[in-house]
Amino acid sequence: MKLSEARTIFREMEEKTHALGHGMGMITYDAVTGAPSGAAAGRGRTLGVLSEMVYLMQTDPKVQEAAELLRQSGETELERREAELFLRDSEYMKAIPQQEYVDYTVLLNDADAVWHRAKAENDFAAFAPDLEKIFDCNRRFALYYRPEEKPYDTLLSQYERGLTMEQLDGFFGPLRARIVPLLQKIAGTQQVDDSCLHGYFPAAAQRAFSDDLMAEMGIDRALCGIAETEHPFTTNFNTKDVRITTHYYEDHVDFSMFSVIHEGGHALYEMGVDEAYDFTELAGGVSMGIHESQSRFYENLIGRSRPFMDRLLPLLQKHFPSFAGITPEQLYRAVNKSQPSLIRTEADELTYPLHIMVRYELEKALIAGELKVAELPGAWNEMVGKYLGIPVPTDREGVLQDSHWSGGSVGYFPSYALGSAYGAQLLAKMRESVDVDAAIAAGQIGQVTAWLREHIFRHGRRYDPAELLERACGAPFDASYYIEYLEKKYSGIYGV
Ligand code: ZN
Repeated sequence: MKLSEARTIFREMEEKTHALGHGMGMITYDAVTGAPSGAAAGRGRTLGVLSEMVYLMQTDPKVQEAAELLRQSGETELERREAELFLRDSEYMKAIPQQEYVDYTVLLNDADAVWHRAKAENDFAAFAPDLEKIFDCNRRFALYYRPEEKPYDTLLSQYERGLTMEQLDGFFGPLRARIVPLLQKIAGTQQVDDSCLHGYFPAAAQRAFSDDLMAEMGIDRALCGIAETEHPFTTNFNTKDVRITTHYYEDHVDFSMFSVIHEGGHALYEMGVDEAYDFTELAGGVSMGIHESQSRFYENLIGRSRPFMDRLLPLLQKHFPSFAGITPEQLYRAVNKSQPSLIRTEADELTYPLHIMVRYELEKALIAGELKVAELPGAWNEMVGKYLGIPVPTDREGVLQDSHWSGGSVGYFPSYALGSAYGAQLLAKMRESVDVDAAIAAGQIGQVTAWLREHIFRHGRRYDPAELLERACGAPFDASYYIEYLEKKYSGIYGV
């Protein structure tokens, strides 16, 4: 095969993969935003046909040969990188014997329904057999792919390329050693008053408020839509078509407010990728950890910062009369209330990483065979007691709360905490050239976004996460920025 021929075959595959991905993404998006409840069966059939088309196209020997050739002898670094990214994605799957992979897909499909039921009925024993199989499969698959590596390292690397237990132990250890005593000190102080966030906030007013928030973030509404779903998320088709969702609870306003800012951060990242990468393997965010670093940057480092309160409060007052007598300082304290809680997705910025550590330690032990699935609820409760200092009354509020394991995502959780830590390091670097606080207070978040676009967004998947971060910060990942950020912020708020 000639290089020019390889290029034509590869490009055509990319174009078609994106077209099919666009179709499938739209169908999936529609399923949670507008589709009638009876549409599931037909949708499943269509998605089955489309995903088979993608699979057949990508595993076509000619496409594989073209990709191999481009990986070895592509003309530019970008061309070689595209082929590398494409082959990497399929290599893990190819290492798994086909029948085992098919059985695993069936297992996951089954496990999802079993987990939903087990959670609703608070019945861990009902989910345990499937969960045991899921962990067994993940351990085995990791060993097929990289027999010489520790399986959990291989699994971590599936979500955050190059990430290892050694790095995570070095990250979580000091973090835990400093956060746990801080939380204990906070527990002995007067809790902050967040009553202004609770009351009656009509959904219609919250919708109008979301529009203002997105405008404040500089989100171009011609390129980014917003819809309502049970769980907020972001989906993207290309740099000119991104969708975010939120959920409006009429008895509190902070959920939709911060979910719009969080998902808006994901959206800005996707819209900021170099448009020349659209419809290629370089399109989109590079990893879960980097993506979360951007969404959490907007949500916490900006959205929950003191200077942003000067912008946020007038917007809240415009839409909700109950904010009339509130000061920016009161709002700042309210949105940063910290308290150990049971549910990860509802945790505040300070306690959040402890929820991740619980999951990390348990996954690590399960994959290493040091912990049995049957012992998991006990181990979970013990660890939550140790890290967060609270008892876990039911498995529904404990080990059964997340959907990740039933979906087969083992090794995924740590990237959430990493994202927060990446963000703190990026902020420190950004402050060298941007007066971040002044920009936020003046309603010029665009200055922050411009820096992130230059150093993170535009690169898409061009660099692996660790390299991207190092290029942006001029130094490798360093968790101390995050620890210092958390300590400074929360000791200030609670006076400890
Ligand atoms: Zn997110």
